[in-house]
Formats: sequence, C-alpha cells, structure tokens
Amino acid sequence: MARESYILANWKMNTTLSEAMVLVSGVLRKTEDLEKVNIVFFPPYIWLVPIKEQYRHAALGAQNVWWHPSGPYTGEIAVNMLKGIAKYVIVGHSERRSIFGEDDATVNAKLHAVLDAHLVPVLAIGEEAPLKIEHLSDAEIERHVASSRLGKALDGSTRGLTNNEWGKLIIAYEPVWAIGTGRNATGSYSANVIRALRRIIAKKTNKDIATEIPILYGGSVTRHSAAEFADQSTIDGVLVGGASLKVADFSAIAEAFAEAQKRRDKKNEIS
Ligand code: PEP
Repeated sequence: MARESYILANWKMNTTLSEAMVLVSGVLRKTEDLEKVNIVFFPPYIWLVPIKEQYRHAALGAQNVWWHPSGPYTGEIAVNMLKGIAKYVIVGHSERRSIFGEDDATVNAKLHAVLDAHLVPVLAIGEEAPLKIEHLSDAEIERHVASSRLGKALDGSTRGLTNNEWGKLIIAYEPVWAIGTGRNATGSYSANVIRALRRIIAKKTNKDIATEIPILYGGSVTRHSAAEFADQSTIDGVLVGGASLKVADFSAIAEAFAEAQKRRDKKNEIS
C-alpha cells in the first residue's frame, strides 16, 4: 500500500493566539520538504480564522462540530460555518465521549453532517482497556475487535453510510487507555487491531474501500515512538495530542512517517 500519511495535530484546549501562530509557522517551516505527508492542524475554533488568514496553505481542521445547520444551540458551531476555513473535522474523540457524554448516535449524526457539507470527517474510535489479542489468529482478533467497544463504536458511528461516503472517511484508531496517559500501544498491537478493522470494514463495504481507507493511530505518540507506528504499512499516520504542541516533537513525528514511506518506496522499486 503506497498511501500518503496523515499527521494530525489535535491541540485540544491549548495555546494562546501568539503560541498558535508560532506553532503553525514552525511546523510548516520544518516539514515543508517532507513528501507524501499531509499535516493538519486542529487548533481551538477561535484560532482557525487568524491562522487561515496568515497561512493560506496550512491544512486546518475542527476538533468538533454540531450537526444542526443553525438554531438555539448555545456555544456550538455548525458545519457550514467551517466551510472555506477548515477541511477536516474530528468526530467522536474520546474526550467528547467521556467528558461531554457523546454516544455513537450523536457521533453518527455529526458524521453525516460533516459528509453532507463535503468536509472530511476524522472518526475517532477506540477500546477502553487493552484487548487480549496476543497469540490469537487473524480471524480471532477480528472477532475480538468486532465485539469490543471499539467494534461497536465503529458500527454505531457509521450507521447509514453509503460506500461512496465510506470512501471519504479517515478513521483514527485511538485506544482510550493510551490517550493522554503517556502509555502508547505498541506498533504491532495497533497494526493487528487496524488490520482487523480493515477486515470488518471490508464486510460492511468492499475490499477496495477497506484497503484504501486511511486508518491512523492515536494515543501518546511521541517523537521517540513515532517510527514504531510509521514502520507498520497498515497505519496511515497518527493523531497527536500532547506532542503536537511542540514544533520539534511534532515535526519529528511527521519526519518519521516520511522516512518510512521513502524506505517502502525504495523497497518497491527494488522488488
Ligand atoms: C488525542 O488527543 O487524540 C491524543 C491522542 O492525545 P495524546 O497524543 O496526548 O495521547
């Protein structure tokens, strides 16, 4: 699979405006020569417009959205308000689920709204505790994943999607136990889970979609652990929280993916 990687920076509720500007300009400068890597910044809503005005070519995303087009929803932002500013929208982040009580039905409504607005949804799903999948066969891992919270979130959040819509999704596989904990899953554990997700998606759609859909890993990725994920060809990038707030760390993560892709391309040339 010779896909491009997605390196997503979820800043959460962090940064002042001047910190945001410094962060974007620093990352853009350090990563401008990287090939086959898509960098997307997800700043707090309020910084989206000033960033867009200053860095027209920066790819931006929203950390959240509401699904109604307008109305009495104090504090919320509609998808149409994001058009022309942000291309991507995270839906179903575990912090939205655990702190703000969002369930799969809510995530599903948001997903449809984002797709209807022709924006790109980044659907975040994950299991609450590590799955016991060591020494299991592929078929057993698939069954395990399908019956876990992760499989149920995939199922409930994507209800009613057409194959065409599936083809427009990015999935962020984020084990809840790894987000913000400093305890990342291993590259091989994540790759096993992601391969199982691809098999489950193939049954919901078809093999081409399941092969092509970008599936990222998220959960305490650092510049030191990035290569472990980048080396797994089934992992198409990372959603990064804490380490996305430092120019050097986040850029090093993007570099690890660019390097891994280069190694894979070279191998393909030889074989
Ligand atoms: C996230 O916010 O999705 C995330 C993975 O955060 P962290 O990298 O800090 O674990």
